[in-house]
Amino acid sequence: MNKDFLLYDVIIIGAGSSGLMLADRLNDTKLKVLLLEGTRRIGTKLLLTGNGRCNVLSSDSATELEHAIHNGRFLRSAYHKYDLHKFFRKHNLPLKQENKRLYPASEKARDVVDCFRIHNVTLKKNCKVEDLIFKEDNLVGVKTNSGEFYGKNIAVCSGGKTYPKSGSDGSMHKILKKYGVKFTKIYPSEVALVYPDFTELSGIALDGVRMFNKKREFTGSLLFTHKGLSGPLSISMGEFVAREEGDTFIDFFPELNEDQLFNKIWENHKFLENKFPKRFYQHIMQFFPHNNPNKKEIRKFVTNKIKRYHLKDVKTMPLEYAFTTAGGVSLKEISPKNCQHKKITNLYLTGELLDLHGEIGGYNLMVAWYTGMIVADAIKEKFDIIEN
Ligand SMILES: Cc1cc2nc3c(=O)[nH]c(=O)nc-3n(C[C@H](O)[C@H](O)[C@H](O)COP(=O)(O)OP(=O)(O)OC[C@H]3O[C@@H](n4cnc5c(N)ncnc54)[C@H](O)[C@@H]3O)c2cc1C
Repeated sequence: MNKDFLLYDVIIIGAGSSGLMLADRLNDTKLKVLLLEGTRRIGTKLLLTGNGRCNVLSSDSATELEHAIHNGRFLRSAYHKYDLHKFFRKHNLPLKQENKRLYPASEKARDVVDCFRIHNVTLKKNCKVEDLIFKEDNLVGVKTNSGEFYGKNIAVCSGGKTYPKSGSDGSMHKILKKYGVKFTKIYPSEVALVYPDFTELSGIALDGVRMFNKKREFTGSLLFTHKGLSGPLSISMGEFVAREEGDTFIDFFPELNEDQLFNKIWENHKFLENKFPKRFYQHIMQFFPHNNPNKKEIRKFVTNKIKRYHLKDVKTMPLEYAFTTAGGVSLKEISPKNCQHKKITNLYLTGELLDLHGEIGGYNLMVAWYTGMIVADAIKEKFDIIEN
């Protein structure tokens, strides 16, 4: 096996979103930085983001960010300290805004990957970390499929467990656990739903639908698929289905409350005819009571089939099909000041690997950007590097 006897100042595991941010922030220091990427290219998941357009940021205020990101309080000081707009401006990546979401003006995720400046960093692709190396209880390096590398500091930026073909396959989760790093429960977030009752409606989309459980509700577009339910609405609800928060319901017609809708349908049994796509209307009318229905029967139809449709036994798609991994390295294990492990003090952790994740809207990339920046500053401080 090859041995690279150079002692690096920092070894970064993973050239994804947070690893690229970290490498970029160390690029202009004199530090010897090694960036190891298990796949044959950098930023693979980043290239997939926002359907190839990359929703790079949200325009939310610090308070809103704290709310939109699960455990968002952990990043509280980062929201104030770092200006991501300025970062991308300085990296010649103009952004454009759609509602609260910011995308590269070119609408190309590739331009986000290319904006990172990592030319002074040693990059090794196809270099998969298979283990950490400890000597006398000190973390001193990494073992990879192409040799061992030694470093004073190791930053694990290996992402979550979704879309494993992008390289974020959870391999570092196993390795970290082996050395006692604690994880919270892992489950899918931003994930489509599996529900068999609507498979015949595959391809139909409905706008302005409400999905809810006893704790939360979302309104948005719903897409019927051959497996169940997708579209922004289902994907937002997916995390809470995975958390088993209780029964999930759909309100297909939130414009009117139950009494109002009942009255309309009582007066005109075909009231819903032009309110939905034809196939969906035909589907729900299978359940409409026949032969001069009475008020009770119509009320039951309105409640059970339109206003509180019970998604009985609904499930999420498996973790690998989710956009984001919920759960990860327990935040009790690391300090928000530097994302440094409290016991293994030359180990740093970033991004989706941590128990931090956000809603759809650029929040997950913000977690990656901020944690990459935090670790870069912590390392600079360790080496007494003073910012200009
Ligand atoms: C389809 C899709 C669309 C998305 N769209 C958006 C969006 O528009 N906006 C948004 O905010 N978020 C989006 N996300 C989520 C976002 O991409 C991730 O949260 C973010 O990229 C996580 O950054 P990270 O640095 O933690 O990990 P990643 O970007 O996943 O990078 C981890 C890197 O580590 C490497 N690696 C893993 N294990 C090893 C190992 N053992 N050895 C060496 N290398 C290793 C991987 O190959 C990978 O390159 C999307 C996700 C998906 C799947």
